[in-house]
Parts: sequence; structure tokens; C-alpha cells
Amino acid sequence: MTDKERLETFRRCGRALFWGGLNDSHSGNLSVRVKDSLWITRTGCMLHELVAKDLVEVAGDPPPRPELRASREFPAHRALYRAGGYAAVVHCHPPLALAWAMVADDLVSLTVDARTALGPRVPVLEAAVAHGEALAGMLAKAMAGHRAVLVRGHGVFAVGDDLEQATWRAFQVERTAQLTVAARGLGADLAGLAAKPYLAASE
Ligand SMILES: [Zn+2]
Repeated sequence: MTDKERLETFRRCGRALFWGGLNDSHSGNLSVRVKDSLWITRTGCMLHELVAKDLVEVAGDPPPRPELRASREFPAHRALYRAGGYAAVVHCHPPLALAWAMVADDLVSLTVDARTALGPRVPVLEAAVAHGEALAGMLAKAMAGHRAVLVRGHGVFAVGDDLEQATWRAFQVERTAQLTVAARGLGADLAGLAAKPYLAASE
């Protein structure tokens, strides 16, 4: 993939996350792993207005040089790559998923789309320090066997084989929260719905 193609993929996903309501003007960060390097968005950038200088490459193990201004969630991204076989990580702040994570310890897939994208459930992680280096190790452990994790009071981390897949999974987290709140308001039996055979059949 050329630098230009990589930037275009980041731009496409960053725009989708912003216009889809999963981020505010300056929240969220994206990364991809390329061999021993990690390409990640710059701290403080606007994901829907990315330009070439907003993508920084961090190679190898040392902490990124401060002048690179890599996202402050760089430790979380790196911990996820070290722990799993992922090639991309999306982090965003979707409002209804965050609200749901304030009252529940997981988010259960209730549709075929969600089950396909996320598997049966997305765990909610609560950490005393919910960002940066302090979060990284806990997040990587919580992600084991899952495709996304909701960090209470902060946001969602979604992993994937590429940036588009991780973006889709982040969208499915927010969609599932929206549907869950709506279905519960309509009096649905959420546990009964989660056990429907059409969900297991969609994996
Ligand atoms: Zn964040």
C-alpha cells in the first residue's frame, strides 16, 4: 500500500466515524500495523479532516519520540497489536454505547449484523485510569476472544484485519446500543432475544 492509499483509507474511515456520530470534532484515533511499524493518527487531529502530517509512523519498541505527536492512546494500540493478530485498531467515543456502558457490564449482539461483526457480546471494562499506559495492559486482556471492548467513561476500541473492518465493528457497537435501548423501551426480553437461533446461525 502506498502512503497515498494509506492516507485515503484513514480519511475514509475517519470521515465515516465523525459523520456517523461516533466521534466529536477531535476525539478518537486510528492505527494500522505494517510489519514492525505502526501507523497512527496524530494527537489532537480531526479524524474527518485528515492530512498527510496527521499520520505518524512509530517503528519498533521504543516509545514514540515526542515530536511525532502520536496519539496519546498509542500504548493501548501497541498493547492490542502485541496481544492479538490484529492489523488495525479503531478508537472512538460513541455516545449511546458509552451511556449503555454506564449501566451494564456488557453489550449483547441482538441482530445478525451485530453478531457477524462482533460475536455474541462486547465486554465493558472499568479501569481506575481509563487512558494511556495505565489502560493498555487491561484493555489487551479484555479484548481476548472479542472484537471490541467498551471502556466505561471513555470509549470503544475495535480491532480488525484492516481499518474498514475495525470501523464497521465500531459502528456495530453503537448500533447495538441504539437498538438495545430502543428494544428495552418497547418492553423486549433482551435475554430471550440474545438466545435466538438466527443469531448463532449468523456467525
Ligand atoms: Zn478516547
